[in-house]
Amino acid sequence: MSGTLYLVPTPIGNLGDLSPRCRETLEAADFIAAEDTRVSLKLFNHLGLKKQLVSYYEHNKRESGKRIVERLLAGETCALVTDAGTPAISDPGEDLVRLCAENGIPVCAVCGPCAAVTALAVSGLPTARFCFEGFLSVNKKSRREHLDALRSETRTMIFYEAPHKLAATLSDLRDHFGGERRISLCRELTKLHEEILRLTLDEAIAHCAETPPRGEYVLILAGAEATQDEDRSEETALAKARRYLAAGMSKKDAARLAAEETGFPKNALYDKIKQD
Ligand code: SAM
Repeated sequence: MSGTLYLVPTPIGNLGDLSPRCRETLEAADFIAAEDTRVSLKLFNHLGLKKQLVSYYEHNKRESGKRIVERLLAGETCALVTDAGTPAISDPGEDLVRLCAENGIPVCAVCGPCAAVTALAVSGLPTARFCFEGFLSVNKKSRREHLDALRSETRTMIFYEAPHKLAATLSDLRDHFGGERRISLCRELTKLHEEILRLTLDEAIAHCAETPPRGEYVLILAGAEATQDEDRSEETALAKARRYLAAGMSKKDAARLAAEETGFPKNALYDKIKQD
């Protein structure tokens, strides 16, 4: 019988956020796969934990993933940790989970810190409906396409960003969503210099020009106001239906859901996406 892959979240700043269950899971595992073994070693030294560490990161994930799966299939238990936060959220853990799923290996997620959800909760923006957009591409074309696809997004949007790219990203967000759109800059969450700035995009750009960004950021961007006209527009309805299609829904379900959400006639929408 194969072993289990445990996804073990680690603190995004405050070491007190490592739960007893995370610690127990790390202690019980036969081996630990870590994104950056130097980063994880620091945490494990702090915990007094001595375990075999194997490296699993973006540039070795293919070969290392294969070896980890072989060991799991042979019955060993593996705990996966990344540099901080929940493995598989904007890090290579995603690929290892898929590989395990393909090989019939059980995957068990232990709950714990995630920068995206922590920032959303504290942002002051609507949390009932949100979408996670991760890092924007540095490639200009894919970045523009990504932001274009979000133009009529009414849900609150979550982005990760590095400090040295923040100014350029805020400027691109303003080009797409306008300077009045609300944004919460969530910096250094759970750390000594934690800071939550609830601003407009214009204000955020001015702030960054005065105070060069430092530390880690999550950006929480308000969704578009859902006016009656916008909601009924064909463009909005089609964009929603196509997003649902891309997420794996059937054409019928995608048309029904987008129609419910926008008030646009379902049959007309279905006829349009049928031709896609
Ligand atoms: N898997 C991780 C998680 O669950 O949050 C995210 C990994 S992603 C490679 C790293 C990004 O998360 C950083 O670039 C930053 O945008 C965000 N991040 C991580 N820790 C943070 C913190 N303490 N405060 C703000 N953002 C943070």
